[in-house]
Amino acid sequence: MTVPFVARLAGLVKQKTRVTMVDPCDMIVLGGGPAGAVSAWLAAREGLRVRLIDPCRESGRLEGLSPRLHHWLQQSGLGTGGSTLGPLPRRVDWGGETSRANGEYILDRDRLDAHLRGAAQAEGAELVQGTGHLHDGRVTLAEGGEWTARWVIDARGRRSHRAARHGAEFSSLSICGWYRTAPARIAGCAVSTLPEGWIWRADLADGRGWAQFTCDARSPLGLEERLMAALQYVLPEAEVTLLAPPMARQATPVLPTEIADLTCLPVGDALAAMDPLSGHGLFWAVSSALAAAAARRTLTARPGATSETLCRRYLQERAAATYLRNARIGRDFIRLEAHHAAQPFWAARAAFPDERLAHEVVSAPEIRPGLGVRGGLVEEMEMLHTPDHPEGVGWFGSVPAAALWRRIAEGASREALLAEHGPGIGRIYDGLCAHRAGVAA
Ligand SMILES: Cc1cc2nc3c(=O)[nH]c(=O)nc-3n(C[C@H](O)[C@H](O)[C@H](O)COP(=O)(O)OP(=O)(O)OC[C@H]3O[C@@H](n4cnc5c(N)ncnc54)[C@H](O)[C@@H]3O)c2cc1C
Repeated sequence: MTVPFVARLAGLVKQKTRVTMVDPCDMIVLGGGPAGAVSAWLAAREGLRVRLIDPCRESGRLEGLSPRLHHWLQQSGLGTGGSTLGPLPRRVDWGGETSRANGEYILDRDRLDAHLRGAAQAEGAELVQGTGHLHDGRVTLAEGGEWTARWVIDARGRRSHRAARHGAEFSSLSICGWYRTAPARIAGCAVSTLPEGWIWRADLADGRGWAQFTCDARSPLGLEERLMAALQYVLPEAEVTLLAPPMARQATPVLPTEIADLTCLPVGDALAAMDPLSGHGLFWAVSSALAAAAARRTLTARPGATSETLCRRYLQERAAATYLRNARIGRDFIRLEAHHAAQPFWAARAAFPDERLAHEVVSAPEIRPGLGVRGGLVEEMEMLHTPDHPEGVGWFGSVPAAALWRRIAEGASREALLAEHGPGIGRIYDGLCAHRAGVAA
């Protein structure tokens, strides 16, 4: 059915010459990667009618799943849908040192994304297989038709950035592909450096390996030649065969997008994209979907200019802080690799984004005003900044962090707090008490 365009903002009727279908749903999500699928899942389970659009193409790629996101997926009930392997033993050769400290979960991205889209469908979201463009809050499908809805979520990932605003003078590429070695390697992951960049490999029990070589985008050499040279550098003793032509992925960090229209929100990489060195891109994608959902709820429950200002600040400050923190963590890793410091790849990235510390130094717990989420809505609230959480924390589970710290600082006993909040508070109490000792000293 074609009807005249009705402005998406409730109460505002604009004169338009275009004809757009007002979607009989409340939200259109363009892009069904982790950020889009989780956005659709959250909205659908809150009763919104959601249409999720994604081409559902498979890329065959592997990534690492951070423990934080693994924990969140389990605890939210979403799970990983059998998309993870591991944790596999992990070896890191960086800065002249070898560490084997942590295991790492390996993620089959196609399976995870399909699983998350399936979870959104199970909550009632409609999945449309297709590709769309987004302009002025309207979604135009390549397959035909133009739609709008009260809420539009842009979750197209890095494809959302027509002209990439990198904020960096370098341009990074990750060349990824499947390989096999003779002799076959023991299952596990490895990170190593080489003069032209760094490489992450996942060797699977079936003898195949996945390589992701992050290097400078500019090179006269072809993708296959570059990936083979990198693999031969880090595996000099093995005979390496590529199993398929490698693929290239943009890997330059992308600055946060300015949030102009709160009813058409970018999430995940469409909002800001991290350097893969951070290892937190997926966590960011999901957490930004949660933040956008909190903004949507707030604007619905408390419409008006105050909420709009609050939500815009919340989303933008979060994106800027996450982008900068991850860029600085990446810079510190780059600086650790002194062996290759003079090489163009390493030299160009050693001073980006600036000289500031990745984490503010907080020597003792401190309560400051900030923005957080209470009861699902964005609010001004007290945040607790501690040496372990320098960026500030609003909640320990369901316990307000600032109020808990006040009780501890006033001398509340461990037993009293356990009785009030349950056994989960014990570890947090112990950690905060250690800081209280620091304050007293
Ligand atoms: C080389 C590399 C390695 C990485 N490794 C890791 C890692 O090990 N661990 C980690 O946590 N993070 C990693 N990341 C980051 C992680 O991949 C991203 O942060 C994450 O995928 C972002 O999720 P997203 O949903 O925002 O976007 P995406 O995952 O990019 O999803 C976007 C979705 O939108 C769809 N889409 C695109 N255009 C359109 C359109 N026009 N219409 C409809 N649909 C569209 C796509 O098909 C896709 O399904 C890595 C990134 C790179 C570049």
